Amino acid sequence: MERTPHIAIVPSPGMGHLIPLVEFAKRLLINHNISATFIIPNDGPLSISQNDFLESLPNGLNHLVLPPVSFDDLPHDARMETRISLMVTRSLPSLREAFKPLVAEKKMVALFVDLFGTDAFDVAIEFGVSPYIFYPSTAMALSLFLHLPKLDQMVSGEYRELAEPVQIPGCIPIRGQDLFDPMQDRKNDAYKWALHNAKRYRMAEGIAVNSFKELEGGALEALLTEEPGKPPVYPVGPVIQTGSSSEVNGSECLRWLDGQPCGSVLYISFGSGGTLSSNQLNELAMGLELSEQRFLWVVRSPNDQPNATYFDSHGHKDPLGFLPKGFLERTKGSGLVVPSWAPQAQILGHSSTGGFLTHCGWNSILETVVHGVPVIAWPLYAEQKMNAVSLTEGMKLALRPKTGENGIVGRVEIARVVKGLLEGEEGKEIRSRVRDMKDAAAKVLSKDGCSTRNLDQLASKLKNKISN
Ligand code: UDP
Repeated sequence: MERTPHIAIVPSPGMGHLIPLVEFAKRLLINHNISATFIIPNDGPLSISQNDFLESLPNGLNHLVLPPVSFDDLPHDARMETRISLMVTRSLPSLREAFKPLVAEKKMVALFVDLFGTDAFDVAIEFGVSPYIFYPSTAMALSLFLHLPKLDQMVSGEYRELAEPVQIPGCIPIRGQDLFDPMQDRKNDAYKWALHNAKRYRMAEGIAVNSFKELEGGALEALLTEEPGKPPVYPVGPVIQTGSSSEVNGSECLRWLDGQPCGSVLYISFGSGGTLSSNQLNELAMGLELSEQRFLWVVRSPNDQPNATYFDSHGHKDPLGFLPKGFLERTKGSGLVVPSWAPQAQILGHSSTGGFLTHCGWNSILETVVHGVPVIAWPLYAEQKMNAVSLTEGMKLALRPKTGENGIVGRVEIARVVKGLLEGEEGKEIRSRVRDMKDAAAKVLSKDGCSTRNLDQLASKLKNKISN
């Protein structure tokens, strides 16, 4: 049997979970010689981005794809969080089969899951393997998750109808309607699954969270306060993508950026799953044109459901065909539009990029912080509204456009915010704050930085399991 400590990682589907988990595993491998096997639950073939990404894992990180589960019995409007949780729950028999040879051949020290994967703990415990969580979102969302069972008992009725904002331990107050999506309808299964997982968080022997003190001081302080039954929390962030997540459109974007002036380009992306309605797509295009600023836009085909491409970022239609007539010709000198997917980490790291209009997915925020790029916050789904509130009101690293009464952000407002970020005084202040945060991020990741030391501590705990 191999003596190298080994962990199993069961990610929820979606690049936003897979990318930080792989980066986390790479750090454990490179710095601590802990190897890993990714065990992938699914409900059908993986997306192109997921496949490319898994195929490029370095030696020491393996992956195996479980047989697909069936969702034939689910209502067609079953929410993303229900699907993600059920994908793990229904994969338990095949996970058990996958565990047998791993436990026989490797020195298994832990099983890591992310947000909605805690049912996999049952398999880990059966095999005597320690359950852990890698939390790929904010310390604020983790604080909310750990508090959720109590909140569920304290509040009757819908959170969105509460007169007072909700006080999450250590965080700025959040209005009920800004809490993460599954909390918007307590009768929906998505809420039940969130609560089910939240209750099981306390089974974990430890929780690594992708954040750091300078970014989320209050929430982390609350998380690090010891409390009976609360697992130890290890802030190890920012754990972000280091290589390219895909070669698709990669070189074209970077070549184009090479030809633009320093700090002049607004990068626009709604993450791996975000989509806009047809009206909103049109307004954004017109607003960009009106702003007369340079832009690099990752466009998806419109859809009224904001997370329509979550399970397949590439979609099936040609997104460029949905842009306003003549838009591509009129903006040819100043804008580049790419369909579906772009090498975000390299774009944010490019000196021509001067701003990022983002859906506020946590990986995107961490990536922008690490590269010191100021933000326009445009939340769509999941916990993104909470992230947008802390980005604009707490961290003050973003501008946020106002939504009109028709539920659409209009072109004039878009042009105002884009100009404000790239050319205005408010943009300058945000740029200066985000650069300070960039320095803080570099410091926590340095050899003696807090996040490095927290990861060391977690790794020692894992390695000690071999000698025990
Ligand atoms: N991403 C990318 N290219 C794209 C869109 C997304 O490389 O065109 C990467 C992005 O860099 C980030 C992840 O996909 O690492 C998206 O994660 P995030 O938490 O921002 O949003 P989610 O997709 O989970 O909503």
